Amino acid sequence: MIKITNIHKAFGDNEVLKGIDLDIKKGSVVVILGPSGSGKTTFLRCLNALEVPEQGVIEFDDGSLKVDFGAKPSKALMRKLQQKSGMVFQSYNLFPHKTAVENLMLGPVIAQGKNKADARAKALQLLDKVGLSDKVDLYPFQLSGGQQQRVGIARALAIEPDLLLFDEPTSALDPELVQEVLKTMQQLASEGWTMVVVTHEINFARNVADVVMLMEDGHVVEVGPPEQLFEQSEHPRTQAFLQRII
Ligand code: ATP
Repeated sequence: MIKITNIHKAFGDNEVLKGIDLDIKKGSVVVILGPSGSGKTTFLRCLNALEVPEQGVIEFDDGSLKVDFGAKPSKALMRKLQQKSGMVFQSYNLFPHKTAVENLMLGPVIAQGKNKADARAKALQLLDKVGLSDKVDLYPFQLSGGQQQRVGIARALAIEPDLLLFDEPTSALDPELVQEVLKTMQQLASEGWTMVVVTHEINFARNVADVVMLMEDGHVVEVGPPEQLFEQSEHPRTQAFLQRII
């Protein structure tokens, strides 16, 4: 279990997260939905300290890590938090001058001190897993958007994280490339990866999520299994949101 308590984050006067709580069970998929500007991406980025909240606690229940942001955690502790999760970005964020396999090796070699041969062997295995074993030596510009994003996913796996974070992973893709990325994510979910996914793909939320969290204006409106939110919710804000998007 990963326990997230009372996350607050402001940019200047703009209070973007106003006390977010979430418990994530090991092996579960949490999908975060909500209107534009509600704080979904900011929350996701707080989970691996790409944004640093002013307040809040993130705790990994295996006892390996507890970060209390209100207590000004050390840089070493923040680095530990960053090592716990792999992030998949909307615009892939691959290194343009590195090949697919080199993109996967950087984290393990530079951040984790693994040796190059081991990192390369693992990288090749992961590229095969996402269906790109014939593209290992290509550069990002030689790959389609869907292929680049699958490299992005394999790169997140390469650091062997406890948690995978996806920030709108399909929203930069042409419609015909969306399914190949969603399929890869569905495969990871069925393998038991713990995942938090910010997305506008409602069918993915319905079919793959164990838990859906709806955010609005920096608050959690409702959190529960997809059936509860999509079929049974009596919360007026959930109903209003669903009416707008479905
Ligand atoms: P979308 O669905 O449009 O991506 P979102 O729910 O993910 O939206 P966020 O991207 O988290 O929302 O943004 C929430 C608010 O935080 C917005 O008002 C945004 O302008 C602000 N914000 C986000 N990042 C920064 C930043 N680095 N500096 C200043 N303001 C920011």
